Amino acid sequence: MSRILIIEDERKIARFLELELTHEGYEVATCGDGRTGLEKALSWKPDLLILDLMLPELSGIEVCRRLRHDSDVPIIMLTAKDDVSDKVMGLDMGADDYMTKPFAIEELLARIRVGLKKHRSSAAAATPAPTLTAGPLVLDPVSYTVSFSGTPVQLTKKEFDLLRYLMQHAGQAVSRDALLTDVWGYDYAGDTNVVDVYIRYLRHKIDEPFGVKTIHTIRAVGYKFQYE
Ligand code: CA
Repeated sequence: MSRILIIEDERKIARFLELELTHEGYEVATCGDGRTGLEKALSWKPDLLILDLMLPELSGIEVCRRLRHDSDVPIIMLTAKDDVSDKVMGLDMGADDYMTKPFAIEELLARIRVGLKKHRSSAAAATPAPTLTAGPLVLDPVSYTVSFSGTPVQLTKKEFDLLRYLMQHAGQAVSRDALLTDVWGYDYAGDTNVVDVYIRYLRHKIDEPFGVKTIHTIRAVGYKFQYE
């Protein structure tokens, strides 16, 4: 039985989710603030986390950031605001997915199933992945490190996942939609500016400081990784 931890201070929503998820056959625990939620997540080791963004004691963003030091549990963030900067911040801190309130329970249940399945398959596919290189740029999927001519490049998890995907498809034009589906894991309903934001981050951390061109814009399509 999969364990799901709900960290949500709105009692009505927490109770509703608890009932629905229990009914679906999940083992459920709830916490009403960020601090106890973080402690519970570390001690109880749930298979998936539903995390509200606005929480007392410790914000959802902060819970996410701290949790990511020790855990790769799938995290679905709940946000009251349909704001790109909130989404980007949540995803940047390592959340896998988010839902804007109010949401349909069926959609949340579907995303929970996707999150759990993805997590299981990534755990099962734990064979050592090969190191990717492009000139002086080296990405090691095992140690989760990137370096340029031996100089470490600090990337967030999403930036790393995006770069890895682009390097795996080096020389190919990849569409924004393909990047959203394959890197972010589901269809963002046309919200492709998240991709553009992350491409900017990568260029800022690799192309600009090292004076190279690795990520090329392909007009009307998307992007292509090619070391020059
Ligand atoms: Ca809240």
